[in-house]
Amino acid sequence: MVKEIILLPDNYRELLTDYVKFYRQLDEEGKTRFDKRIEQFLSAVKITGVNAVVEDIDRLLIASGAIIPVFSITDWQYINLHEVLLYPGAFNQDFDQEGSDRPVAGMVGSGAMQNVMIITKWQLRQGFINEQDAHNTAIHEFVHLIDKMDGTMDGVPDIILERKYKEQWKRMMEVTIEQMKTYGSDIDMYGATSPVEFFAVISEYFFEQPGLLKANHPDLYQMLERVYKIGG
Ligand SMILES: [Zn+2]
Repeated sequence: MVKEIILLPDNYRELLTDYVKFYRQLDEEGKTRFDKRIEQFLSAVKITGVNAVVEDIDRLLIASGAIIPVFSITDWQYINLHEVLLYPGAFNQDFDQEGSDRPVAGMVGSGAMQNVMIITKWQLRQGFINEQDAHNTAIHEFVHLIDKMDGTMDGVPDIILERKYKEQWKRMMEVTIEQMKTYGSDIDMYGATSPVEFFAVISEYFFEQPGLLKANHPDLYQMLERVYKIGG
């Protein structure tokens, strides 16, 4: 007998509408496409609670964080991700440290933890519940995976960024990081840590507060539109 696996809860539309601003702003056709994408994601990636109960909303939010950055890239698959571990709150960082973030938020693994992402339930939910700021830990971690897919985490997502923009993007990151260090910024200073973190932080800003980013940093906004294939 084949056991049917139900990936989306009955009330998934209600949950997505309540918690995911990006989803709420899609038209009906867009919502249907988003539903399919998160269902595909959940069929490919295992989500495991570590001292935490994985609730429907957690599964939907993790999948949303995965799909939001690549929603306009139609054939995208996270081939470098097999499992997401959900921790309740702070996890101790006794892991390989590549991509380790803001003490307790999340990380993408390397070494023995290759193909694994760790995220804390609290940060996951805060990223979506708080719609006023430019933070979203799930988006941040999935952007690291996108960056990593070409083999190196360096802030340059070679898989999706057209080669002709590569040098321009690198320079833009360097210049902005220098400006941040010198003058401060409305961009989270964590982004000034390295190009890797800059790319993740500015992508959070892009998806969480697109209007604000466009007003404050039009060049960065335009480049991220190219990166994420938004607007033609
Ligand atoms: Zn990071």
